[in-house]
Parts: sequence; C-alpha cells; structure tokens
Amino acid sequence: MRILVTGGSGLVGKHLQDILPDAIYISSKDYDLTDLQQVRDMMNEYKPNSVIHLAARVGGIVDNINYPVDYLEENVLMNTNVLKACHEFDVEKVIAILSTCIYPDVLDTYPMKEEDLFNGPPTETNFSYGFAKRCMAVHIDSYRKQYDKKWSYLIPCNLYGEHDKYEEHHSHFVSALIKKIYEADESIELWGTGKPLRQFMYGGDLARVVKYFIDNNVVGNYNVAPNWVHSINEITNIGKKACLKENLVVNYDSTKPDGQFRKDVDSSKLLSILKDFKFTSLEEGIKKVYDNFSKRYNR
Ligand code: NAP
Repeated sequence: MRILVTGGSGLVGKHLQDILPDAIYISSKDYDLTDLQQVRDMMNEYKPNSVIHLAARVGGIVDNINYPVDYLEENVLMNTNVLKACHEFDVEKVIAILSTCIYPDVLDTYPMKEEDLFNGPPTETNFSYGFAKRCMAVHIDSYRKQYDKKWSYLIPCNLYGEHDKYEEHHSHFVSALIKKIYEADESIELWGTGKPLRQFMYGGDLARVVKYFIDNNVVGNYNVAPNWVHSINEITNIGKKACLKENLVVNYDSTKPDGQFRKDVDSSKLLSILKDFKFTSLEEGIKKVYDNFSKRYNR
C-alpha cells in the first residue's frame, strides 16, 4: 500500500511519521497544493492508493482575523485540488482532517455531534478558515454520493504537541501557554477573560486515530476529542501544575478577543469503534511538551 501524507512537515504530520514511517510525507517545499498542476505532478510521481490530507493554512486567532482571504482561498484551493486529483488518480482511501472550527458558533446543546454541522454559521473570528474546511466536508460527502468513494473525514478539536509552531501569531493556545510558562519567572499575560471552554488534544493522539483508519476498513465522519472540556483558566492552572510553576500569577487582558465561547464535540461515535482508545491526559501531554520545549530552548 502506497500512502501519501500532505502536510507531512506539520504538527500532526510529524507525529504520524513516528508511527507510520513508511508513508510518503509531503510539505509545501515539495509541492504547492494550491496549484492543481503541481498536485497532479505529485500524484503522478507517487501514485498512492491512500492519501492522508493534513495540509492546510492553520494559524492563531490574530492571523485568522488579519488574513481571512488567504485562509479561505488557500484552504479551498488545496482541498479542492487534492480531492480532484485523488479522484482522477483513483485513490481508494482518503482520510481528510477538518477541525471543530467548522461547527456552528452557538448551539442549544453541547457537546456537538456530527449531525450538528450545518445548524448555523461558524464563529466570526475564524469564519473563513471554518467555512473553507466545512466545504471539504460537503466535498467529500459529494464524492461519496456521486462516485461511491470510500473516503472519510475526521473532525479534531484544538491540538498541541512538540511540533507546534511557537511564533506569536501562529501558535495555538496550549503551545503558546507552554512557551509563556517556560519563559516567565513571576507572571504571564493571557488574552481574553479566561472563561471560554475548550477541548485540547495531544497531536500524537490524533496520529493514532488516523493510523487506525489506515489499518482498518472504516469509512465515515467522526469527531475526535477527549471527553472533557475546561475553561481557559482551568487549562492554565493544569499547565502551571504540569510545568511545576504553580506560583506564576496569571493576568488576563480582557480588551483582547476571547474567540468562540465553546465548541466542544462528542466523540462517542468514534469511541464506539475504537473501544480501547485512551486519550493522553492534558497534564501528561503538557508535561511531555514542556520537557521537550525546555530541552530545545535551554536558556
Ligand atoms: P501545521 O503544523 O500548520 O502544518 C501545516 C502543513 O500544511 C505543513 O506541512 C505545511 O507545509 C503544509 N502546507 C501549508 N500550505 C501548503 C501548500 N500551499 N502546499 C503544500 N503544503 C502546504 O498544521 P497541523 O497543526 O499539523 O494541522 C494538520 C491538520 O489538522 C490541518 O488540516 C488542520 O486544519 C487540522 N487541525 C489542526 C488543529 C490544530 O490545533 N493544530 C486543530 C484542528 C484541526 P510547510 O511545513 O512546508 O509549510
């Protein structure tokens, strides 16, 4: 089986490399997936039977607010080109990674299930990214209907991991928090009120779920998230404890945006097939990433 992974140099791609070493890992330096001809060249070169589509323009809240056109265009182009070429080259299995950002901004009941996807627009702060990725759900559903494809998509919550980007405008909350805790002696400043609720998953957990879909005959759409949800403030306290810096003072800058209030999803559909799967606890995951960060940035 020839497995090709787009986005192979990213957070999830690097976790996947640890447990699926024989796949072909592609980054933007190899092929620009916004260009259909380059995607066709890539398919021609590797002729994969399975494609794991991780590549995306991914970023933090500020970048999403400042560059909505780029988030929409790059993601729609990449997803459309990759799916189109997978069809043209008869790729049997496609596993695409979406995001819980595609869900409605507000719903009456939480956690959200797969069938809630179209019950409202995505949140304003990452509307373009959310909509572009929601389009890929429609796109894959359409390929299933029109061409009977056995293609799947996974909808993971926010991630963190050793391979996240740590530049200010790119990083996600937990990775940014770990960096701030590492660098601080007395206090840290965080954006917003600390009240929004979030699920965060260790990137290696998502890689294990993707590998399960490669190794087994499973087709469908599945949320992927641990079954807990915490406020940003609770996550911060867990982070301080895991990094052995419980005395750090946390100041919230409530003039800065909070982002969506909550977007927690229900993974019971996934866990009904992956019965023994255990998510890494937040404390354990943060400790692992913090230790790795300390080794790399030893100051
Ligand atoms: P990431 O670390 O930002 O990596 C993005 C990957 O996409 C990189 O390999 C990058 O290549 C590649 N890429 C970007 N633009 C490209 C282009 N024009 N042509 C070819 N490749 C391109 O992303 P990640 O965090 O691993 O995310 C993987 C998937 O999970 C994405 O689909 C994302 O939407 C989804 N997801 C992520 C999170 C999260 O919190 N990180 C949460 C939910 C869902 P270069 O390294 O060469 O730039």
